[in-house]
Amino acid sequence: MKHNFGAGPGILPHEVLKQAAEAVVNFNGIGLSVLEISHRSSEFEAVLDEAVKLVKELFSVPDGYSVLFLQGGASTQFAMVPYNLLPQTGKAAYVESGVWANKALKEAKYFGEVEVIATSKESNFTYIPKDYSVPSDAAYLHLTSNNTIYGTQLHEFPASSVPVICDMSSDIFSRKVNVADFGLIYAGAQKNMGPAGVTLVIIKDDILGKADRKIPAMFNYQTQIEGGSMYNTPPVFAILVSMLTLRWLKAKGGVEAIEKENDAKAAALYTEIDRNPLFKGVSAVEDRSKMNVCFVVENPEHEKPFLKLCDEKGIVGIKGHRSVGGFRASIYNALPITSVHVLIETMQEFVEKNK
Ligand SMILES: *Cc1c(COP(=O)(O)O)cnc(C)c1O
Repeated sequence: MKHNFGAGPGILPHEVLKQAAEAVVNFNGIGLSVLEISHRSSEFEAVLDEAVKLVKELFSVPDGYSVLFLQGGASTQFAMVPYNLLPQTGKAAYVESGVWANKALKEAKYFGEVEVIATSKESNFTYIPKDYSVPSDAAYLHLTSNNTIYGTQLHEFPASSVPVICDMSSDIFSRKVNVADFGLIYAGAQKNMGPAGVTLVIIKDDILGKADRKIPAMFNYQTQIEGGSMYNTPPVFAILVSMLTLRWLKAKGGVEAIEKENDAKAAALYTEIDRNPLFKGVSAVEDRSKMNVCFVVENPEHEKPFLKLCDEKGIVGIKGHRSVGGFRASIYNALPITSVHVLIETMQEFVEKNK
């Protein structure tokens, strides 16, 4: 068994992988693969219906919201959000808390005026910008809830009089969120919810219809809502595996239960980073992510030997993003706390070896 700390596509529950493998060969005992049946068959419609139902249940999605499973990743949402929500003569407010936020706001510039109301770019995004006010004439405020590369996370969402749009790709379903506070939530599935190839969108229906432009069908939330995520052939396999992962989460006790586990995993790891003389954290303490724990070695010569020791212990995916360096332990929902303990023991063993 490997201890998979990879940043994304990330770890999935082992039992989900087994169920998915079986569904590829013989889905629900029907003698056919899930990959070779119609997406409009009753078998697949049941999968999509259950996936939507689980999202609503796990996140207590209020009435007046639609749940969509779309293609194109979170990066397509960077464009689809302003395409649908930013009027040509309007403006949108963005908080630039990392590279993903930066990519999102660049896409928005194709559609209207963009006001970057706060940024932490000057410090290479080591903290979450907080002191700003949201212009009341903005069409929406765009936030990124967790920044995978720098290991920062928005622990408190700001108050806003305009609809809040949030990219939750790397912490969706890791903690409780009050969906009613948002106009739209989107997340590429491949970090905390399922495999690559599907993107979850939770959208408040009444924020639509205000952008004064024609929108091609596939990029139009309204078409996707009316088609029930089946305007065209949906990514059936990615939706199935996401549904199975959400089922797994529900069986574990839902978001509240996983949040407690995630808190315990993050606390244990940060405690070791702060205690261990050879390692140190990189992001502002109050903004530390509970999903991506980034840290570095005090002595650069320790980097390679530590990676080697991790490799020997079956710890994989721990090398930091190339723009930051060091290490990044992604501790998504499916990563068991026992893997975190193995990493902590490995860090302690490394100190002993380097005394
Ligand atoms: C990983 C990630 C993305 C990229 O998503 P794609 O599905 O690859 O387009 C976007 N935003 C955030 C916050 C991410 O963590």
